[in-house]
Amino acid sequence: MLYNQVQDLKGTIRVYCRVRPFLQGQTNGQSTVDYIGENGNIMIVNPLKQGKDARKVFSFNKVFGQNVSQEQIYIDTQPLIRSVLDGFNVCIFAYGQTGSGKTYTMSGPDMTTEQTWGVNYRALRDLFQISKERSDFIRYEVGVQMIEIYNEQVRDLLVMDGSNRRLDIRNNSQLNGLNVPDASWVPVSSTQDVLEFMRIGQTNRAVGATALNERSSRSHSVLTIHVYGKELVSGSILKGCLHLVDLAGSERVDKSEAVGERLKEAQHINRSLSALGDVISALAQKSAHIPYRNSKLTQVLQDSLGGQAKTLMFVHVSPEVNAIGETISTLKFAERVA
Ligand code: ADP
Ligand code: MG
Repeated sequence: MLYNQVQDLKGTIRVYCRVRPFLQGQTNGQSTVDYIGENGNIMIVNPLKQGKDARKVFSFNKVFGQNVSQEQIYIDTQPLIRSVLDGFNVCIFAYGQTGSGKTYTMSGPDMTTEQTWGVNYRALRDLFQISKERSDFIRYEVGVQMIEIYNEQVRDLLVMDGSNRRLDIRNNSQLNGLNVPDASWVPVSSTQDVLEFMRIGQTNRAVGATALNERSSRSHSVLTIHVYGKELVSGSILKGCLHLVDLAGSERVDKSEAVGERLKEAQHINRSLSALGDVISALAQKSAHIPYRNSKLTQVLQDSLGGQAKTLMFVHVSPEVNAIGETISTLKFAERVA
């Protein structure tokens, strides 16, 4: 069978691995990435081990090294954005330990510099651009929702009064693609509009947190862009949505150290990330039973995981030697869903 056909059969689930560069001040560090192959292989070297046990190869659809730009990352994501406007549901996840570059890939370091924009902004720019190009034959309406899942509770991030509203999960076929019908839904007509709402979402995310970074690393944030298209000639309606999910940090917490609130958070995160892994790997294996019910995250996204929906997971690793344990467990997680 041709390589392309094999890829097609695997079809709707893609896993890309991204290695972030050393951060400033660490540039002379030893890297645990031995090499990155053209064909989606990455070899990790574990300096704590000897001989053949020290090296291990992992395989994904693509691997991006430290010098790959935000633009290059996006080029391989772009076809998915087009399919949202064709009526598909698409989930893009960022997975990895805290500090490995999830938010960098999704949002970028700084909204104001277009060159370093993450997947979020580039996707939105394209969504509005393509819908404009098609405006002679399809009229699109776009709306966004933004929620956070923290300790297995769903919160609305687009509330304007700063209230800390907990939301229920319910299936509502009208609000296709995100099973949280009560989350604020705001119509948008430009990238600027969405950026404005994302800012509100980020501000709300900080409410109740001791420090913004702390909270953002321990909750999942889901930005959903709903697209409704009406074909002008036939009058038929198409619905698609794009979920941009910045997951909670995947690092395992030392059980002997974490207590109380911190331990509870860690358990919720571990459980929901493994539930997500179970769902994606069941889908990849075309299993008869897909275990959506094991976490809030998979329940919320049920309509957009499986069926005709498309999934892309970016898994992030840090090159530092002291991250080796998490790097290997991240790559093992990712290989299971690839
Ligand atoms: P996470 O969201 O996984 O906790 P961040 O995205 O906040 O991690 O990244 C941690 C730090 O590394 C930030 O200072 C970020 O700017 C930097 N960083 C991450 N990925 C890259 C990259 N590909 N190129 C340059 N800097 C990066
Ligand atoms: Mg982050």
